[in-house]
This record gives sequence, structure tokens and C-alpha cells, in this order.
Amino acid sequence: MTETAPLSETDERALMASIDRWLEKKVAPVAARLEQADEYPAELVADMCEMGLMGALIDPKYGGLGLPAVTYAKIVARISEEWMSLTGVFNSHLMMALIVQKFGTEAQKDHWLPLFATGALRGGVALTEPDAGTDLQAIRATARRVGDRYVINGAKMWITNAIEGDVLAVLAKTDPQAQPRHRGISLFIVQTREPAAGGDVQGVTRGRRLPKLGYRGVDTGEIAFSDCAVDADLALIGGEEGMGFVMATGGLELGRVNVAARGVGIARRALKEAVAYAQIRHTMGKPIAQHQAIQLKLGEMASKTRAAELLVEDAARAYDRGGRVDMEAGMAKWFATETAFEVATEAMRIHGAYGYSKEFPIERLYRDAPLLMIGEGTNEMQRIIIARQLIARNPV
Ligand SMILES: Cc1cc2nc3c(=O)[nH]c(=O)nc-3n(C[C@H](O)[C@H](O)[C@H](O)COP(=O)(O)OP(=O)(O)OC[C@H]3O[C@@H](n4cnc5c(N)ncnc54)[C@H](O)[C@@H]3O)c2cc1C
Repeated sequence: MTETAPLSETDERALMASIDRWLEKKVAPVAARLEQADEYPAELVADMCEMGLMGALIDPKYGGLGLPAVTYAKIVARISEEWMSLTGVFNSHLMMALIVQKFGTEAQKDHWLPLFATGALRGGVALTEPDAGTDLQAIRATARRVGDRYVINGAKMWITNAIEGDVLAVLAKTDPQAQPRHRGISLFIVQTREPAAGGDVQGVTRGRRLPKLGYRGVDTGEIAFSDCAVDADLALIGGEEGMGFVMATGGLELGRVNVAARGVGIARRALKEAVAYAQIRHTMGKPIAQHQAIQLKLGEMASKTRAAELLVEDAARAYDRGGRVDMEAGMAKWFATETAFEVATEAMRIHGAYGYSKEFPIERLYRDAPLLMIGEGTNEMQRIIIARQLIARNPV
């Protein structure tokens, strides 16, 4: 893996300032309404395409911004402070793009990456099935080679961008009998919709847009493939069967840093709201910020939020240096997302009844945070990954 140089401080500051302006002008006024209506933020997605976010991590030679992970994590955290759902639209898309960029053939990169970089084709990663999440090797979707095509069959569930998107990286078994099981798993880029024609590709059926506790607005849904035929050269990532499991889990490393960065955004916003509210709410003749019980909470919330920021930055820098970062990404993901949930919960308690109100942002942060403990590998699995790496890196 190659090293990615950091942006200059001036360039990064200018980029963050443009994100801030967009959040303030376009996102803040509509986020609560769209979230409560669970409405897809089509206009904001168009803005994100225009700002280049769909190509944030794609090499400039394919039309992307080629940002280092450390800057990208800052963008994700900042947008999540305002409305986390928006980051799901480009995070999932970029995970798909990165898999092609890292493992695709030259012809696949030339074909797909320019379309992904502009958002002309948007999508995500379709690994999970109704009966297989953590245990991805238990998937049942299949891809059978027929001449110069693969024929895909199977059902995917809990897929972000499955309903609104046009393309997915689909995990399927090319050899269902293979042992070990991962050797029979491959990853395919499947275009599910022709944006110009507006219709679904033959053999694709979009299912329900799933109702969710939080992370609303962005679509998470079901999608089924029934004899869906794809061009073998363009679709089978890397051109070699049996590598899909390694690609999917390799792609998840930066996905974990992204999810951790969302946790930082949630924690930061919850802390900011709590610090402000504690100074204006009075009980027993003084602001609640002057009660020691509240100070103990704020002290812990602020320290954990800062620690989460530093762990995310550490993992993103390690990623930019190249090489495997499963331990660093796992630590950041586990700590930052548990922190997001804890800080959102404490912020709600500090707000009392107002924390429970739809008219304040705290209840949304509280509903958004738990997803982060589940997606991109559950937090149970993160600790197992950290321990395995710890042992592998420190043999006796
Ligand atoms: C809003 C949302 C969006 C999502 N978006 C996507 C997407 O875009 N693409 C995609 O492919 N998937 C997506 N997912 C699915 C997500 O990745 C899975 O939910 C996740 O991998 C967990 O799988 P599961 O839900 O099947 O839980 P299970 O695998 O059934 O796990 C259930 C519980 O058992 C624990 N567990 C399981 N195995 C072990 C073990 N070996 N050791 C210890 N504990 C274990 C888990 O940690 C968990 O607590 C999304 C999910 C949600 C909720």
C-alpha cells in the first residue's frame, strides 16, 4: 500500500471552511425536518456530488480529490456534528470505490472510478444478508460463470444506498463448496440502475427501505438479484475468483476509521450542547453547571471525546502511512463509538426533559449513536480483532 501525503494546513483549513459554510447555510436549516420525516436529502446529495465528496478518497487521475484519511476523517466528524446520515451517503459509496481502486484491474479502474468520483454512479457495499452479518462467510448469494458473464442470485439486506443508489459491490459465492469457505467468495461491481434510462437493470428487485431507530433520511434497504447477468471483465473485482472476502474485510479498515469519526462528531455535538445548556438552566438558584454532579459528567464527557478524537487521528495517520491498520482502526472504532453513545446519553440527562424533546438535537444524537456500535463490524468483534493483532504483533 502506498503512502498518502498530508494536505498543507492552509489547504485543509480552506476545505474545512467550505464544509462549514455549507453545513451552516444548507444543512442546519433542514436536517431536523428531513430526519424526522425520514426523507432522502436529494438536494444535499447533489451538493455533496458538486463539492467532490463522492470522490474524496479517489485518486485525482480518475477525477477524485485524493484526500488523505486524516483530512477525510475530519470532514466526516464535522458533518456528523450537524447530521450523521449525510456521511452514510458518501462513506458507503467510497468504501465501494476504494475496493475498486485498491484491488481492481486497470480496465475496471478506468471504467468505474471516473463515474464514482463525480457521483454519476452512486452506490455502496452489499455484504450483509438476512442470515449473515458478522459471519460473512455464511452468505448464500451466488455468482455462476456463464461464458463471458456472471449470473448473480441472492438477497442482500441492511444495505445503505441500496434503494437510491445505482451500483453496489456485491459479495457472492463463486464456489459454494470451497473449504475454507472464504476461498469460494468473490466480490462484484453490479450496476443496479441505468441512471440515464431511470430503470432497474434486469434481474434486480429493490425491496423495502427499512424503518430505523436513527440514521434516518439515508436509505438502508433490501435488494435481490435473480439471474442478474454482469460482464465478467468489468464486474469481478481484480479478475480473480476467491478474493472477495479479503477485499471486503480489507476495505472495512478505512470504513472503521470513518465510523469512528462519525462517533467523534456525535460526541462533540452532544458535549457542546450539554456545556451550553448547563450554563443557562438554573436549579437551586444557580446554573446547573455549578453543581458538582453535572461537573463530574462534563469532565468525563470532555476527556473521553478528546481521547476519541486522538485515537481517530492516530488510526487515520497510520492508514495514510500505508500498511495494515486493523488494530488502530479497531481501537478508534470501538472507543469513539462507545464514547458517542455515552456522551449522547449523559447530554440527554443533563438536558432533563428537554433532552427527550424532538425540538432539541440531543434525542437525535442519542438515536444515531447505537448504529455506530453495530456497523462496519460490531464492537464485540472490534475488541476481538484488537486482541488478535496485539498477540500477532507481540509473539513470545
Ligand atoms: C443502519 C444500518 C446500515 C447498514 N449498512 C450496511 C451496508 O451498507 N452494507 C452491508 O453489507 N451491511 C450493512 N449493515 C449491516 C451491518 O454490517 C451488520 O448489521 C453487522 O455486520 C452485524 O451483523 P448482524 O446484524 O447480522 O448481527 P450478528 O452477526 O447476527 O450478530 C449478533 C450479535 O452477536 C455478536 N457476535 C456475532 N458473532 C460473534 C462472535 N464470533 N464473537 C462474539 N460476538 C459475536 C455480534 O457482535 C452481535 O452483538 C447495516 C446495518 C445497519 C443497522
